[in-house]
Amino acid sequence: MEKLESLIKTYYDFPKKGIAFKDLLGIIQDSEVFRELILRMSSNQVIKNSEAIISIEARGFIFGSAISFQASKPMIVARKPGKLPGEIYQEHYSLEYGNNSLSVGKEALEKFSSYAIVDDLLATGGTADCVARLINKSGKKVSGLLTVVELIELNGRLRFDFPVETILSI
Ligand code: AMP
Repeated sequence: MEKLESLIKTYYDFPKKGIAFKDLLGIIQDSEVFRELILRMSSNQVIKNSEAIISIEARGFIFGSAISFQASKPMIVARKPGKLPGEIYQEHYSLEYGNNSLSVGKEALEKFSSYAIVDDLLATGGTADCVARLINKSGKKVSGLLTVVELIELNGRLRFDFPVETILSI
């Protein structure tokens, strides 16, 4: 796990001036570190306390689906606009470097009672908050948020009233 931080590359002024973008894709190029990370995330209390996982497009899918496999928990997805067929719930949000909306399939969301939100990185918390609103809209429970990285200076975790767990705070 000590190697985890060294696999994360920082790109300054990407995708906008003033943003220090953390590229986590190096983690999946080291299969030993990726495996250890997934084992750790899968045994986290936030995952254990949930009936299902909801992962966020797109990098959240990488970690979410591996955790879903390892923890034997079903997974549903929160997607960017125009991607999901059928009836959806949709909510708008602002993140560290822009704004967008996320959607969840109504039928998928209705299947399970509680969800662990999984994403690659927590910055301001706007993205995860949007997913929490989608879950609450359907009367379901959020068991917590689990990310690989948290940017501590942005204090994103302060906006949540559910447990927030992260593997690496930087
Ligand atoms: P936020 O909503 O501000 O917490 O932003 C979290 C979402 O945006 C995650 O899905 C991240 O992938 C992405 N993100 C935000 N800031 C960064 C950053 N500095 N480096 C990499 N990804 C980021």
